[in-house]
Amino acid sequence: MASFPIEIKNLINSLSQLPGVGPKTAERFVLFLLKKENTRKTLTKNILNLKKISFCNQCGNFSSGKLCNICLDQDRNKNKILVVARPQEINVFENIHDYNGLYHVLGGLINSTKDIKDKDLDINGLIKKIKKNNKKTEIIFALNSTSKGEGTMLYIKNLILKNKNLKNKVKLSRIARGIPTGGEISYADDLTLRESLTNRRSI
Ligand SMILES: [Zn+2]
Repeated sequence: MASFPIEIKNLINSLSQLPGVGPKTAERFVLFLLKKENTRKTLTKNILNLKKISFCNQCGNFSSGKLCNICLDQDRNKNKILVVARPQEINVFENIHDYNGLYHVLGGLINSTKDIKDKDLDINGLIKKIKKNNKKTEIIFALNSTSKGEGTMLYIKNLILKNKNLKNKVKLSRIARGIPTGGEISYADDLTLRESLTNRRSI
């Protein structure tokens, strides 16, 4: 790498910071991009476009507008809310084409070792949605089956059930345990995920 111009070195260094990309792979990418002008232009444009992305005001999904495509979709069942920890998990469920409700992103899981508390998560937003809906809302928890996922789910469940008004307005369920204990939702295959959603059970 010592003989490369600084521009090449800089890009190799930048790409090496990507997950799963070591300096050797980064160097291959840069040498490829030097040869392929069209790929380089498209890649540059697409990377710059990422600055338009923020989070949906309603569900917390990635979005280039105030509301994401799912929240804007009038055909969605507004009486079902699937609760996930991170926005990328919405994409995992959308890929199985089997769920027609809405989503709610908590923004993490309660984690005492990392000092992530209930107030750091968007739990209030979920409560507001339940209150706002005139009909009964099914809340489907789809959090990782780890101690942090379980703890967060129980915390929210208890919060809802101890409030009489809220308790009567919800049906609480969780996706089935098709996903191995400690398993990450993002890594579950489509069939496992579809079955865990279909076989969800009340909590
Ligand atoms: Zn949304």
